[in-house]
Amino acid sequence: MTEASIIDGKGFAAGLRERVSRVAADFEAKAGRKAGLAVVLVGEDPASQVYVRNKNKQTVACGMNSFEHKLPVETPEADLLALVEKLNADPAVDGILVQLPLPSHMNEQKVIATINPDKDVDGFHVVNVGRLATGLPGFVPCTPLGCVMLLKDKLGSLSGLDAVVIGRSNIVGKPMAQLLLAESCTVTIAHSRTRDLPAVVRRADIVVAAVGRAEMVKGDWIKPGATVIDVGINRLPPAEGETKGKLVGDVDFASASQVAGAITPVPGGVGPMTIAVLLRNTVVAAHRNAGIGLDENAI
Ligand code: NDP
Repeated sequence: MTEASIIDGKGFAAGLRERVSRVAADFEAKAGRKAGLAVVLVGEDPASQVYVRNKNKQTVACGMNSFEHKLPVETPEADLLALVEKLNADPAVDGILVQLPLPSHMNEQKVIATINPDKDVDGFHVVNVGRLATGLPGFVPCTPLGCVMLLKDKLGSLSGLDAVVIGRSNIVGKPMAQLLLAESCTVTIAHSRTRDLPAVVRRADIVVAAVGRAEMVKGDWIKPGATVIDVGINRLPPAEGETKGKLVGDVDFASASQVAGAITPVPGGVGPMTIAVLLRNTVVAAHRNAGIGLDENAI
């Protein structure tokens, strides 16, 4: 049996960030200001703090402004909504990201609905969800858009391919399915109620796993030669002598890589794409909001 080729998301993300940097410099020359991303973090969730720190660092490294807003966990929802409104009105802010999850006294849908859809670089606003579903230009959630970029880079046209997306969350599964449909795949969305999941997955030329269950998708579920995109990030319990457990995806890499044609590793596959696409969405937002033309597909 041949080993699958490894899809290098880390390398692709580095190239994408380089392209974003060039476009951001060009924007600054034309607009007379830097593109700007505002990131709002409520509370002190350690994982969210790491994400926000990385987002800020990479935004600045790409030549854009990063406006960081840290609010205490007990902040009233009305104060967060007022901050979002202020950012909506601020011409230096092209993209707004409110880090999820929010504390339980806040209504996430209400907060997302307050973001100006044209600054919603996460693509979570219902207007952008509708734009994606109807084929209008908008903003698409970063992780699934990154997955499609990797797939097109590997396979070229996706037209006519059978794709199975495992997971139906608003953040990954559903937008992923919409994007694959827009690429003219025949799309199946599987979830926890799907009957005979291995048989469903075995039909797929493209498998996208976004489940949150460590190494659930086994090699004998994969059609030989299929392309496998593993969105999952799961930490295993630490083995003896380890302080931290190993990071693994939703796909059993050892067995799947014996059958697949190409596969993303964890870490180093989809993970690094998410922030790189966020930066891409921000520089796109800057151009759209300033009315400066840009070949968005060339980034
Ligand atoms: P959610 O928990 O919101 O959704 C998980 C989905 O998996 C649900 O639709 C659920 O089905 C389905 N599911 C659960 N168990 C099974 C099962 N046994 N068989 C089939 N389907 C099942 O997760 P997210 O979409 O937010 O994230 C998925 C994974 O991707 C996680 O590991 C997360 O850490 C990772 N992730 C990685 C990102 C990155 O940057 N690389 C970004 C975002 C997420 P149902 O709807 O029926 O309950």
